[in-house]
Amino acid sequence: MKKTNFISIQDTIAIHLRAAKDVNKVAPGFLFAISLYSIVKAISPYATIWMSAQLINELAGLRRPEVLGQWVMMIIGVTVVIELIKAVLERWQNVKESLFYSQYQILYSDKFLSMDFADSDKQETRDLFTQILQSSNWAGWGYNYLSMYVCWSVEAIAGILGALVLTISLFTQKVPESAGSLTLLNHPLFVVGIFGILLMITMVGPALSGKATSIWGDMAEESRLGNRMFSHFQWYLTENKEKAMDIRMYHQLDISEHYSTIPMFGVGSHYAKLCATTIGGYIGLGRAMSAILSGVVYVFVCLKALGGAFGIGSVTQYVSAVTNLTGNVSTLLQTVSHMRTNAGFLKRVYEFMDIPNSMYQGSLTTEKRADRNYEVEFRDVSFKYPGSELWALRHVNMKFKVGKRLAIVGENGSGKTTFIKLLCRLYDPQEGQILLNGIDIRKYRYDDYMNIFSVVFQDFQLICQPLGANVAGSMKYDRERVFKALKDAGFEERLATMEKGLDTMLYKDLSEDGVDVSGGEAQKIAIARALYKDAPFIILDEPTASLDPIAEAEIYSKFNDIATDKTAIYISHRLSSCKFCDEIAVFHDGAVIQQGTHAELLAQKDGKYHELWNAQAKYYTETQKNVK
Ligand code: ADP
Repeated sequence: MKKTNFISIQDTIAIHLRAAKDVNKVAPGFLFAISLYSIVKAISPYATIWMSAQLINELAGLRRPEVLGQWVMMIIGVTVVIELIKAVLERWQNVKESLFYSQYQILYSDKFLSMDFADSDKQETRDLFTQILQSSNWAGWGYNYLSMYVCWSVEAIAGILGALVLTISLFTQKVPESAGSLTLLNHPLFVVGIFGILLMITMVGPALSGKATSIWGDMAEESRLGNRMFSHFQWYLTENKEKAMDIRMYHQLDISEHYSTIPMFGVGSHYAKLCATTIGGYIGLGRAMSAILSGVVYVFVCLKALGGAFGIGSVTQYVSAVTNLTGNVSTLLQTVSHMRTNAGFLKRVYEFMDIPNSMYQGSLTTEKRADRNYEVEFRDVSFKYPGSELWALRHVNMKFKVGKRLAIVGENGSGKTTFIKLLCRLYDPQEGQILLNGIDIRKYRYDDYMNIFSVVFQDFQLICQPLGANVAGSMKYDRERVFKALKDAGFEERLATMEKGLDTMLYKDLSEDGVDVSGGEAQKIAIARALYKDAPFIILDEPTASLDPIAEAEIYSKFNDIATDKTAIYISHRLSSCKFCDEIAVFHDGAVIQQGTHAELLAQKDGKYHELWNAQAKYYTETQKNVK
């Protein structure tokens, strides 16, 4: 079994303080609210214990009615006030808590959005993040425990202080001489002995249960595969509409059922066996020792009362105070050992959060040009994906002509999408330069640079939000402009069928009257979103892939209206859809091997374009023959 690396107390505290700062950013005041509530919760029982002891002492002693009455009134009054304060604080804490649970994921999404795209796209980053999520789902390891630690430790510290105040007189009140041999209890050795026992109760139990927790924590590695399979298969049928048909068709449920029979967590698993032996053994032994040692302290308290050191009421006070004292010290120590285990998980969280941004971030702002005269040029650009030996692009030279339509064609894997990723600076090339108006794009502020592009990626994503918000990328938007963008993208007719117009919720995931749109319709909405952004460059990556021939023809015929004075880049492996472009660049094995108009390229009989064109034309002719 892999052991969790040793983490010192200082490091444990430091990493939790850092986590607390982060939590405070997304849920301000949450940890403070918990602290306040925990203090009141910890101290309130002592008020009742102390007042009840006075009441019982009076009952067992002088029994004066007016004094008894005063204590009863006091107990009721103080209890009511304390409960009221507790209720208010608890409510406040709960409100803050719900904010925390709904907000702390923002820490991760912010990180994902701010890290270099190349890092967010790496498998190791995804694996690390999956581990973080799985540990969190498995037992709340990571940020989730922070609120518990604040609650446990503040309550324990306040409880210890309260208990100490009520316990001191147990040692200072002497057994009177008249009690004979019981006066032995006044001997200082007894005080030291009882303190020793108290110390043992508080140390041994938590030490043993800490061992159990750390074995549990060490299981994270082993349980990772189980959790991974669980989260992978859990929602396969219920949440994943896209996969549902394949699962039915090919009986894929059998495969998931096979995995569910692997006893990762069930009876007979390594985990279950450990719980029944070592983990359970440590916890049981710890509890038994605490119970026995507490019994010794109770005997001491009772013997002192028997000797006449204090009244019967004080016995209840000391027994409760001692129980609370040991309980709270145990809680504190257990919290620390739990935090030590959690520190290992938080280390993973910060391994992720601290992934550095290594891409150079320039500070130049792009010129705002009304004439949209932005010259972009690829100058001898070569690029390999991180971890790959193969050049995905090699010696690419390309200058975009302002306001013109450029088509990029080529077989699958020829480098078309990589070219766009570099253009959008999702990656930086290893060799060569990409220039905007003669200046290396690395020197511009990234946000500013991105503002000149609207891209419709092949695997674009729409979200379960109203149609208008999807197009505008914001909840507040200019309805006229959104409407125009949808119209230009060819969505006008479909929009007319939507009762709620721009307020129609897309998809049914979040709303019963949400509307499911087809692949082609979704693509038109994505195009409208790109148009609404109104950037000088519009890039469409395989925009007609999921459109039917009529919709495809509609997009082509409208393309000039859509692109207006923008520079348009149009990626496709269907050559017939590129004919209308001013220029066509043919990619092959990461290089631009031909460039020209459709007619020029077709005239080069031994060129790739001619070969691809004929292959596709043949396919279309054959398809048409078959259809006939
Ligand atoms: P196209 O868009 O023309 O189909 P791509 O630009 O997607 O081609 O791919 C070009 C080459 O880069 C291919 O060999 C592909 O396997 C490789 N490639 C694409 N994405 C990645 C990636 N994330 N990591 C490693 N290699 C990649």
